Amino acid sequence: MIVIKLVSGMKISDIYKEKKKTLSFEIFPPKKDSDLKNIDETLSVLCELKPDFISVTFGAGGSLNNSRTVEIAKKIKNDYGVEPVVHLTCLNYDKAQIDEFAKVLESEGIENVLALRGDRVPDITPKEDFRYSSDLISYMKKDHDFCYLGACYPECHPESNGMVDEMRHLKTKVDAGAEILLSQLFFDNELYFKFNENCKIAGLNVPVVPGIMPVINASQIKRMVSLCGASFPVKFRKIIDRYEDNKQALFDAGMSYALSQIIDLLVRDIEGIHLYTMNNPAVARRICEGIRNIV
Ligand code: FAD
Repeated sequence: MIVIKLVSGMKISDIYKEKKKTLSFEIFPPKKDSDLKNIDETLSVLCELKPDFISVTFGAGGSLNNSRTVEIAKKIKNDYGVEPVVHLTCLNYDKAQIDEFAKVLESEGIENVLALRGDRVPDITPKEDFRYSSDLISYMKKDHDFCYLGACYPECHPESNGMVDEMRHLKTKVDAGAEILLSQLFFDNELYFKFNENCKIAGLNVPVVPGIMPVINASQIKRMVSLCGASFPVKFRKIIDRYEDNKQALFDAGMSYALSQIIDLLVRDIEGIHLYTMNNPAVARRICEGIRNIV
């Protein structure tokens, strides 16, 4: 393993200013201790593909037992020389807990935070300090010089009252200090293009980066879609119906579908692609091979 120590970090907003198109990955911390050792294997492949950054998800539970998110972000930065983005949710935390977490991030030289509200967790009563992600950004920005990213939803957030409200709230989030928006997964590019156009009309002058999740597991994707409400285009549904019991065929078809989405996005001047890797290096590798010569 090549060990590269980053002297200082880089703000993701600077990467978007410098590069015309970025490629970033999302990973999640393994739940079981036994899977923790696999993360090095995953990271070594992902980092060889030279992403512009890797974001690490954060559990939305009530205790701040998210040390693995920080541990993995540190690894990405210090052992692999890639810029990490730490996800952080706020609904179940109070100001003191957020301050404590921000201090940990600062002491580790982490420069980038994806500020989220988080989903409601059964049996946990939300704390009252933060209702929305924009509250978190406004609060943290006063004392902490991170680059803040935010989430966005091309097909509206499941709790949304519609696109007009969604745009108004996104504008609040950007005005609070979100410099980049990373999108929820979607399978119909036209919905993303329309959403991106709405963002521009609403005066959101920040990158609205599409999030792409290649399908390699039918039940996983059905579960994800039922949670986030993304629509299934007919062409995509046919792939799943046809190959859901044939792992290898579903992998090939899912990769082809994701690549065709990505190429369609890249030719239309979007600022970058955020790939939901599902911690699967083969997925990231295949996507990178597929766009090797595409700029
Ligand atoms: P908000 O931006 O707060 O929006 C939530 C809803 O409230 C929206 O409908 C919005 O329109 C509405 N709203 C916002 N402001 C106002 C206002 N002022 N008044 C009224 N309504 C308002 N979850 C995790 O637990 N961990 C993760 O690591 C994680 N990573 C994610 C990464 C990405 C790229 C995405 C897209 C989502 C991620 N999530 C994660 C899921 C996310 O936490 C949920 O979707 C959550 O329900 C909403 O979070 P948010 O930050 O988008 O919320």
